Amino acid sequence: MPHLSGKEIDYILKAFEGSWVVPLGPDVNAFERDLERLTGHGKHVVALSSGTAAIHLALILCGVGAGDEVIVQSFTFCASTNPVGYLGATPVFVDSEAGSWNMDPELLDRAIADRIAVTGRKPKAIIPVYLYGMPGRIDEIMDVADKYGIPVIEDSAEAFGSRFDGRVCGTFGKFGIMSFNGNKMITTSGGGALVCADKATADKIMFLATQARESYPYYQHETLGYNYRLSNISAAIGRGQMEILDEHIAHHHHVHDLYAELLEDVAGVKVHSNPSPRYDSNYWLTTITIDPSVEVVGSDKAYAEIISGAVGGAAGVTHRASSPHTSVEPNANVEAMRLWLDARNIESRPLWKPMHLQPLWKDSPAYVNGVSEALFRIGLCLPSGPWVTDEQVRYVVRSIKEAIL
Ligand SMILES: *Cc1c(COP(=O)(O)O)cnc(C)c1O
Repeated sequence: MPHLSGKEIDYILKAFEGSWVVPLGPDVNAFERDLERLTGHGKHVVALSSGTAAIHLALILCGVGAGDEVIVQSFTFCASTNPVGYLGATPVFVDSEAGSWNMDPELLDRAIADRIAVTGRKPKAIIPVYLYGMPGRIDEIMDVADKYGIPVIEDSAEAFGSRFDGRVCGTFGKFGIMSFNGNKMITTSGGGALVCADKATADKIMFLATQARESYPYYQHETLGYNYRLSNISAAIGRGQMEILDEHIAHHHHVHDLYAELLEDVAGVKVHSNPSPRYDSNYWLTTITIDPSVEVVGSDKAYAEIISGAVGGAAGVTHRASSPHTSVEPNANVEAMRLWLDARNIESRPLWKPMHLQPLWKDSPAYVNGVSEALFRIGLCLPSGPWVTDEQVRYVVRSIKEAIL
């Protein structure tokens, strides 16, 4: 459930009074200026209908088309990769490093060199991701990208307000992605934004996002456009949300720190935390890893049944699984912990399954070092949202301890 400042309703009512209920209006502009105050560095931000749309348009401006290759962090949510598929291009997956869980810069370097050797062409773009809000080694990733002259599109969808070396995530590359989906750090009910380096780029994005209209008294089209602009009503919600951003991030930090403190003495259970003071995660989700040596009640029955629905079950329409197993899944003790918590009314989730292990992308090249697969087998996301209280964190930790034999 999102956390509202109370100002959202005021902004929405004002938008309705001014008849600004279209993807155009004062709130979209004001929301974009709010976002630019956060990003700084002379960036221009364009508000869009989703983070996925933002990635799609960034790829188009990077010149990605059918047959091209785009490097994507494998350890991510499907939305980082899907727009590569929309364009008929091929994702090339690069694995993570163990500190931040994000793209490994050395492996990235080797992957690019190998793609050039194999295909004779450079990948068209690089998409690093800040998973669960944790910044990555973006300074080194930028060095590698600059060495080859390849643009970087930072997927900052989960890392709104996170910083690396004091600089906001999403402002290092040629483009940065933001998401305001219902479950993200702030929400506009649904929405996203693209961080652009300059006004000329932002103008190109706005043109593409509003059906690419030429200036004639009738509809004249020379370019393939999209209906990807954020509505003014959604932007009005975003303006209200921006007023509680700091409070919101402080809460997520507090929840993470409390989990870390309470789980400190539990052998084999580790809370994922900033690897060094250069990292400043927004701690969108607090995640833990459970060592395979930790014995959890019910591990023997962990995958006994096919579950109904799916993670984050969208509209509730999911394909029914044919078997409770896939070839790579969380360890039995991790699934047993998830079921144990679920029975106590606590929703936890496995870490995102890496893209190079998804049947959808089985034919895509992948440069792997085992890090994301290992994390997927041992990881769990804990309740971390704005409504989670200290008492609930204590209840979750108590329940985790009770599950361990
Ligand atoms: C949520 C998310 C997106 C997409 O954002 P939407 O606004 O839901 O389209 C992209 N990448 C990552 C890593 C995400 O978690």
